[in-house]
Amino acid sequence: MRFETKAIHAGLEIGNLSKSIIPPISPSTIFEIDADGRNEGDLHYTRLGNPNRLQFEHLIATLEGGAAAAAFSSGIAAASAVLQSLDPGDHIIIPEDVYAGNRKMVTGIMNRWGLKSDFINMSNPATIESHIGPKTRLIWIETPSNPLMRITDITAVAEMARAGGILTLVDNTWPTPFNQLPLELGADLVLHSTSKYFGGHSDILGGAIVARNEDDFFDRVRLIQRMGGAVPSPADCWMLSRSTRTLAYRMRGHNEHAEKVVAWLNGHKKVADVYFPGLESHPGHEIARKQMTGYGGMISFIVNGDQQASIRIVGRSKLIKRATSLGGVESTWEHRQSSEGEGSVTPKNLIRLSVGLEHPDDIIDDLKQALA
Ligand SMILES: *Cc1c(COP(=O)(O)O)cnc(C)c1O
Repeated sequence: MRFETKAIHAGLEIGNLSKSIIPPISPSTIFEIDADGRNEGDLHYTRLGNPNRLQFEHLIATLEGGAAAAAFSSGIAAASAVLQSLDPGDHIIIPEDVYAGNRKMVTGIMNRWGLKSDFINMSNPATIESHIGPKTRLIWIETPSNPLMRITDITAVAEMARAGGILTLVDNTWPTPFNQLPLELGADLVLHSTSKYFGGHSDILGGAIVARNEDDFFDRVRLIQRMGGAVPSPADCWMLSRSTRTLAYRMRGHNEHAEKVVAWLNGHKKVADVYFPGLESHPGHEIARKQMTGYGGMISFIVNGDQQASIRIVGRSKLIKRATSLGGVESTWEHRQSSEGEGSVTPKNLIRLSVGLEHPDDIIDDLKQALA
């Protein structure tokens, strides 16, 4: 079956004991134990597992081509579960322009618990290799990176990592499995903030880890999901499964609209540079073309002007909402450095745009007047 078909049906394959086409939301926190006692695989208590979470986990694992998935109450909770599955003293390599919340989680929380980390530019596998040490356990990839849109060669890094017994994790939040399949390219783990394109309507907070193998490492992630307790509600899982049924069609729209907006922005007199991996001039374009089937809906661009000029441009939008985050049907943009705060390597005149599913000409009309 193909992506579109799996996206619609895989969420409905698990635990739908009623004849309803759409499974019900199961609010029950407890499940009845059989008269002969507890049996392997039974549901007992909703933090440990519930029908709607199992449905969504099966769905996202299917779309990523993984053996198993664990859903969390946010992307960050999913990310920290992976890091908590490492041991104190272990070392990770992570992009210097990694999603800012993950950077703060690593430096503000995990480092205090003994995790060692190198934040580096990950566009060149040789740079990554030079940071591998005896305690390196995990290489964290975000490609395209946020917000500099740098591209990392997943296949090359995963091969290098495997040779050293190191895990590779790819944050696939921006591309989604519609545009990029990291496990197929050799990665071990995929991270998602499902708050973005999976949810797709800016109304669900969630995250997930998908694993290539249901191995000892994934068992640790599962333990942290259940005993750390950062689990999504049954209602959120139900909503996510519903949104995912249209993921392919939304991603097609995001891909197509972003290409149109990039074509308009590129060369505009107020725009000094456009960061988008679909551009042939992008330094990572060849690798992006190899590992992605579409370039997604995110664009960063550099304004011809200073920080204040950039903030003023964002302030002039009428249709595009001034908001952080991304992946909704509505277009949003922001002066990214203001939102990342301390430790940010984002240029002061960078605007990040999440291209939505409005008519692309209306998005461009709004950009026209904001950049006039
Ligand atoms: C938003 C985001 C996260 C964090 O997810 P939350 O759901 O906000 O906790 C992680 N990675 C990327 C790339 C993101 O865009």
